[in-house]
Amino acid sequence: MTVIIDKAKCIGCGACVTECPFEALDLIDGIAAVDPQKCTDCGKCLKICPTEALALPDKPKKKMASKESDTPKRPLSDIAKDNSPDSKKASEGTHGEWTGVWVIIEYINSKIAPVSWELLGEGRKLADAVGCELCGVITGYELDGVIPEIYAYGAEKVYVVDHQVLKDYRSEPYADAMTDLILKYKPEIVLMGATSMGRDVFPAVAAKLQTGLTADCTVLGIDPDTKILQQTRPAFGGNIMATILCRNKRPQMATVRPRVMAMPERVEGRTGELVREEVHFDEANIATKVLDFIATDAKSAFLDKAEIIVSVGLGLGAKRNLVIAEDLAEVLGGTIAGTRGTVEAGWLTHDQQVGQTGATVRPKVYIAIGISGAIQHLVGMQTSDFIIAINNDPEAPILKVANYGLVGDLFQIVPALTAAFKKRLQHGVAN
Ligand SMILES: Cc1cc2nc3c(=O)[nH]c(=O)nc-3n(C[C@H](O)[C@H](O)[C@H](O)COP(=O)(O)OP(=O)(O)OC[C@H]3O[C@@H](n4cnc5c(N)ncnc54)[C@H](O)[C@@H]3O)c2cc1C
Repeated sequence: MTVIIDKAKCIGCGACVTECPFEALDLIDGIAAVDPQKCTDCGKCLKICPTEALALPDKPKKKMASKESDTPKRPLSDIAKDNSPDSKKASEGTHGEWTGVWVIIEYINSKIAPVSWELLGEGRKLADAVGCELCGVITGYELDGVIPEIYAYGAEKVYVVDHQVLKDYRSEPYADAMTDLILKYKPEIVLMGATSMGRDVFPAVAAKLQTGLTADCTVLGIDPDTKILQQTRPAFGGNIMATILCRNKRPQMATVRPRVMAMPERVEGRTGELVREEVHFDEANIATKVLDFIATDAKSAFLDKAEIIVSVGLGLGAKRNLVIAEDLAEVLGGTIAGTRGTVEAGWLTHDQQVGQTGATVRPKVYIAIGISGAIQHLVGMQTSDFIIAINNDPEAPILKVANYGLVGDLFQIVPALTAAFKKRLQHGVAN
């Protein structure tokens, strides 16, 4: 669908041509003409036209069902053939055909990555702002047990690709399954967690679709006029926050790190539409084979889930002073983390680093000791529930995001805090 032009009313003023953010309008023989490949039905041209020569077509109502879909099951591999990069690009067709917000639900080692639920919460807000439906997409093997959870966290519809070949995560078949689903159903926005899997598969999907992907967004929104996804993330080494738009291609794709968005409410018993897609993978054609899994003991995996984090910065002065923070962490049952400065100094390991190039954390309590609060650090911890900062510089940026700021010498404050907590806990007062 594209904008409809009433040639009898058009006076050829060109206002719509200048106004169109997608360069979809032009004057041909003095009359406005629309390029259906570029028009997104955003409606901006309607508002500027002085003669009301432009109109939007009525969109068909979306189907909402509470039972399994009667969508004909066409093998995705057929779609893949039709949609090979040479025959069709994701951005072909009008943008009006692309509708819905999709969240890729990450299911790995028989567990759902919690960021998937966080994104369903965020996806709900986006879908409401656009006026479209929110869908969950899950690829893997033996998935029936987890589908009710996807509805519980807010999806109205769930697309499932369940196949033995998808039992263990591998880029190739996962990227193929996601690409084919997107080409078949044309969602307008697709979100995924910036996890190891998301960072691996999503760029491959975006490249196959020849559309844009904004990684590591910290804020997502919808432009009220154009309904385009506003994807905000730190840029230029974190010195500015850039809002990125994907104006001319669809779908609009973004990843968000775990714990950046809030966990939505889980509503037991919520249901929705289910769409199962058949796939025909041939194992012989997949280059990678999973031979074994070797579990890592990386501390960052734990950092991600820690409820209390005691985080240190260069204000600590030397590695030997880490003991001050470790004592506090031990009393509180917390986990030690730090800034990039402390990692570069060799005091901590990279999997303990919080920030733009480290982990994003959202603990109940984040205690920042001798940390200045550079933007690259703040983006990794500022959504913590409660922040306590200890710094001898009253102008330190960390104090601006802290709930409690203790201005003074950390070598006096931290041992005093540790002693006070120890005393309270010994007397059975936990908070
Ligand atoms: C591309 C890029 C990515 C980056 N990624 C990250 C990242 O992921 N994570 C990260 O943390 N940084 C990152 N950085 C680095 C970041 O810009 C800062 O340099 C770093 O966070 C500063 O670390 P800091 O707070 O430990 O040290 P400083 O900035 O040196 O701050 C030390 C603080 O300690 C205070 N202090 C000193 N002595 C005392 C005392 N006795 N008592 C109390 N307070 C005291 C000082 O007032 C000061 O505020 C990145 C930088 C770039 C360019």
